[in-house]
Amino acid sequence: LNRAATPASVATAPTLAADPAGLFADAGLVRGGDGVLRLDEVSLEAIATDLGTPVYVYNGSSIRARYRALSESLAGIRHRIHYAVKANSNLAVLRLLREIGAGADIVSAGELNRVLATGFDPSTVVFSGVGKSEAELTAAVDAGIGSINLESSEEHTLLERLVAGRVLPHPVRVGIRVNLDVGVETHPYITTGGRAIKFGVRQDAVPGLARRIAANPRFKLVTLATHLGSQLLDPRPFVAAAKGLGGLLQTLRAEGIDNIESIDIGGGFGISYDDSPAIDLQALGAGLAAVIDQRVALHLEPGRFLIGSAGILLTRVLFRKHAGAKAFVVVDAAMNDLVRPSLYHAHHEIVETVAHGRPVQVVDVVGPVCESGDFLAQDRPIAEVQQGEHLAVLGVGAYGFVMASNYNSRPRPPEVLVDRGRYGVARRRETIAELLAAERADPFS
Ligand SMILES: *Cc1c(COP(=O)(O)O)cnc(C)c1O
Repeated sequence: LNRAATPASVATAPTLAADPAGLFADAGLVRGGDGVLRLDEVSLEAIATDLGTPVYVYNGSSIRARYRALSESLAGIRHRIHYAVKANSNLAVLRLLREIGAGADIVSAGELNRVLATGFDPSTVVFSGVGKSEAELTAAVDAGIGSINLESSEEHTLLERLVAGRVLPHPVRVGIRVNLDVGVETHPYITTGGRAIKFGVRQDAVPGLARRIAANPRFKLVTLATHLGSQLLDPRPFVAAAKGLGGLLQTLRAEGIDNIESIDIGGGFGISYDDSPAIDLQALGAGLAAVIDQRVALHLEPGRFLIGSAGILLTRVLFRKHAGAKAFVVVDAAMNDLVRPSLYHAHHEIVETVAHGRPVQVVDVVGPVCESGDFLAQDRPIAEVQQGEHLAVLGVGAYGFVMASNYNSRPRPPEVLVDRGRYGVARRRETIAELLAAERADPFS
């Protein structure tokens, strides 16, 4: 066995871990001269101590800043931002976004209930999804939402059957989700445009479906929508999508279908997870302004872009150990709390909640779950930590808590909103009693 003189777990180059400046700015994080990490003036160490760990923390000011930045990049274009609820559906996050003028993009009846419960005007809600059930479609019709985006002609047939014979105050507003075949570069699990993909209606099938919708007075075709994928850092595919939908709009106009109100280029606007740049909003805005048809409004469906950077997961160091040349930091957050590293090999920066100026070590940060895939980071240089200290996992506001599970019978963590120098619990920690409550040891009794 060839043991190096310097164990692989000790990094040679950096001796102090530098905080990732770009991420800190996006999240609204500041490290004070005292070494304490603060989110909008609130000490993360204090939250971890008060509420225990693991715990998710979201920064309200950061969410608002992201919304404004995106909206301002589209100044001069008539637009509406529909927040993609699936990225983070906590009611406090939804309320905050509704208050600053966002609409909502939903993918289930559960999300419909969440947006109605937080006061979204139903006319600002759009419903996406390749497999909506009868019950979900009926709920959307009953709520009178802004658009049900159809993903197949069979879905339209089902919707026709569901509303047949019903007295409706207004025609049902529908859209067509188009599969535009715009190439994108991202993780294959989060690519949703392209030929062999389950989402949307093929471009050549759009006119036929549009004619069927137009022929039925119970329906109004209000939008042409698409969604390319997630975490796209290049603005060009979005511009290509706007152009593609604009072309289809022309085709439909030539056939006399000329009352479509908007085109919807979906979500997927990429953020920075390390110190590399996020999508260039100026280039996005300029590109879209150059191709947009001013007769219709532009709709967008960002999820990650609005909430991703604003969220942090706090965790506590349980143990440190070595196996072979590897050093492990065992923490109390696991893949059931944050699955992105295990599922997508996603990179999340990990920093100390209180900096002690210790040397950097290369470690695997792992959770307690009985799976080798249970890690938050692998071969990561972080400042040396000691048992009982806290770490902050950055950029986890989107697809973090919403993808949490109870695997290993672990209750899901609480969610906290920090806003204007205060923090409040937006979802309390689940209890073990709640995990057991829905089950029966003897299902035959
Ligand atoms: C997931 C999804 C979004 C949001 O994607 P982000 O990458 O979070 O911006 C928007 N629209 C649709 C239809 C989606 O499925």
